[in-house]
Amino acid sequence: MNNLEYHKAKIEAIKIHNPTVKSFFIRYDVDMPYQSGQFVIIDFGQLPHQFSTRSYSIADVHTGSLIELCVVLKLGGAATPILFDQNIGEELTISNPQGRFILPETIEDKIYGFICTGTGVAPFRAMIKDLLLIKKCTSPVYLYFGCRTEADILYRDEFESLSRQFPNFKYIPVLSRQNWEGATGYVHEHYKNVFEQKPNALIYLCGWTEMIKQTRDNLKGYGYSRTEIKVEFYD
Ligand SMILES: Cc1cc2nc3c(=O)[nH]c(=O)nc-3n(C[C@H](O)[C@H](O)[C@H](O)COP(=O)(O)OP(=O)(O)OC[C@H]3O[C@@H](n4cnc5c(N)ncnc54)[C@H](O)[C@@H]3O)c2cc1C
Repeated sequence: MNNLEYHKAKIEAIKIHNPTVKSFFIRYDVDMPYQSGQFVIIDFGQLPHQFSTRSYSIADVHTGSLIELCVVLKLGGAATPILFDQNIGEELTISNPQGRFILPETIEDKIYGFICTGTGVAPFRAMIKDLLLIKKCTSPVYLYFGCRTEADILYRDEFESLSRQFPNFKYIPVLSRQNWEGATGYVHEHYKNVFEQKPNALIYLCGWTEMIKQTRDNLKGYGYSRTEIKVEFYD
């Protein structure tokens, strides 16, 4: 974990993915090195709660002083309605990157699995781009991304383009509330096809407790150990 320090940083751009998810592009005054998968902490100053801070994964690979955060609006939440009211040019109090949910130093000949729902895809976008584009990983990389409907699939064009460019990248969006030509139901029914026979793999899980716990239990049931499963809980 890096020493925690706070900076003033400006919202440089905002991208609306759908009615409840936005990307915030935030510019620090200085270069802000980080490892793909890390998160930052925003201090909202005053929230009607014990804690005034909330954490957000960095959604893209390192490019200097700019970071992207991909955030879902939580209705009735304390912090996200405030963040969603922010405009370009406004200043945030935000930490330097934190966390150990990162890629291994050495990329080995094994399967890299990524399983998430919703904005849990944010750190995986950074990690997968890092693996394929920067680390030139040729091992199989699987992304299982659970969403309700097609409108909820984040970064679809980019992941589709990566899967065309890199045959070792298998992109599997799974819709739970819409029938379409792709995978349907819950992610559990789909990652099972690859991991049930316990091939050598390192598997990352990110998002909300319920999905992570069930996935972790299933993977343990297939024989995976704690060191082969990395988790980032959002709640
Ligand atoms: C490492 C990490 C990375 C994350 N990355 C993302 C991301 O990339 N995108 C994204 O959309 N979300 C992410 N989250 C979730 C995010 O931090 C917020 O929980 C979410 O945005 C909802 O915030 P809220 O204040 O609107 O909701 P609220 O329900 O008000 O608060 C949500 C969380 O704040 C804490 N909290 C609130 N009140 C209290 C209290 N009284 N006492 C103790 N704790 C309290 C709890 O942890 C609670 O789960 C991440 C969380 C973590 C831990």
